[in-house]
Amino acid sequence: MLRFYNFLSRKVEEFKPFGKVVGLYTCGPTVYDYVHIGNWRTFVFEDFLKRVLKFNRYKVKHVMNITDIEDKIFKKAQEEKVSIEKITKSYEKAFLADLKKLNIQKAEVYPRATESIDSIIALVKKLLDKGVAYKKGGSVYFSISKFGAYGKLSGTNVKGVKAGARVDVDEYGKENPSDFALWKKSKAGEVEFDAPFGKGRPGWHIECSAMSMKFLGESFDIHTGGVDLLFPHHENEIAQSEAATGKKFVRFWLEGEHLLIDGQKMAKSLKNIFTLEDIIKRGLDPLSLRYLFLTAHYRSKLNYTWKSLEAAQNALNNLREEIPDWDEPKIGCAEFEGDFKEAISNDLDMPKALSVMWKMAKSDYPSSAKHQSILVMDQVLGLELGKLEKAQLPKGATGLIEKREKLRKQEKFEESDKLRKELLKIGVEVEDTAEGPKWKIKKN
Ligand code: AMP
Ligand code: ZN
Repeated sequence: MLRFYNFLSRKVEEFKPFGKVVGLYTCGPTVYDYVHIGNWRTFVFEDFLKRVLKFNRYKVKHVMNITDIEDKIFKKAQEEKVSIEKITKSYEKAFLADLKKLNIQKAEVYPRATESIDSIIALVKKLLDKGVAYKKGGSVYFSISKFGAYGKLSGTNVKGVKAGARVDVDEYGKENPSDFALWKKSKAGEVEFDAPFGKGRPGWHIECSAMSMKFLGESFDIHTGGVDLLFPHHENEIAQSEAATGKKFVRFWLEGEHLLIDGQKMAKSLKNIFTLEDIIKRGLDPLSLRYLFLTAHYRSKLNYTWKSLEAAQNALNNLREEIPDWDEPKIGCAEFEGDFKEAISNDLDMPKALSVMWKMAKSDYPSSAKHQSILVMDQVLGLELGKLEKAQLPKGATGLIEKREKLRKQEKFEESDKLRKELLKIGVEVEDTAEGPKWKIKKN
């Protein structure tokens, strides 16, 4: 039984989709800079979620927005004296390239805010017509006091809110609920679009409501993001969408915990970030970051250190060395595959799943069975364990290995040991196992 912790009920619930295809919406990046590894923690968690759904035989339609209208983008374009489009296109490209390096499966749709203006305008118009939004000073605001269920996701109390308190900027406060802009009168240096309620540009929250409903329908299954989006972003998405349609917007809300550094949230504004490029520059593999993320449950904070990333890299290297020695995959280990599925289906318990995988790898099942099972598990882990190739032996080594084995069988251990040393000189380590001699290329 597949179950997730649903932030809406604050309980673990059995997952039941609305229809045959699971609709999944994940808040995407704001493309004004490189995405940092804190953001990657959330995007990788969402990839695990998608793979777990598929492992449980669901078809998934995944939509992730690209925020290409935002205060920080305009600021950067002005500072660098380049067009807004130049900024957004180049960082979007970098984002998509990094997704590949982390072996994150692509979404079905990546709608951009700039290309979704018609649906955004239609939604704002609907909210105005219904009387839950109002115009003020050339902008349009959502009136949170008109939506009775405001606060149901985050538990935010709307009582005591100053009447008419409004927020115009895209950096929203996390403490005080207030009326938020659906449509903003644009300032110099910002993009602007024509709308029946005046020239301007959309606010950030409305973009996610418009795009998710456009591609997934008015009610869909799962919405995710990092916990910092719970309030006000996700709360506002619910308010806008449900006020407009009168229907339940999303059934399951899953929110990933933060990546910390020195006990603080990793955030660009705190200048404590690292990017994927920083990891590569240190000679580490982006997939070691994916491995590191597997070691903590998505609802627990994870403190980042270079030491923990190196440990993840070592663990991954050990796997990569071991698997090519295994026989061709045949029938897998049903018992371990069952435990693995149980762990991932229990609100994505990836640390447990990883430990099941290691228990299986270290077990004395035939290597052909372990090989089969690890490929099955890697459909979810995504560590590219199916692409490993056995290292090539240097010239002459095969003959020496065979000769040594013959000598060992004749119990001529002194002579066989000489050959072991000869092999070592050409970089080949031989280990004698119950299944016969196994070799690997010695690391420098
Ligand atoms: P942003 O571009 O800031 O909207 O962030 C993109 C995604 O990354 C959102 O889902 C955020 O919640 C998430 N995020 C931001 N900082 C962190 C962090 N330190 N750890 C985990 N997720 C984060
Ligand atoms: Zn969003």
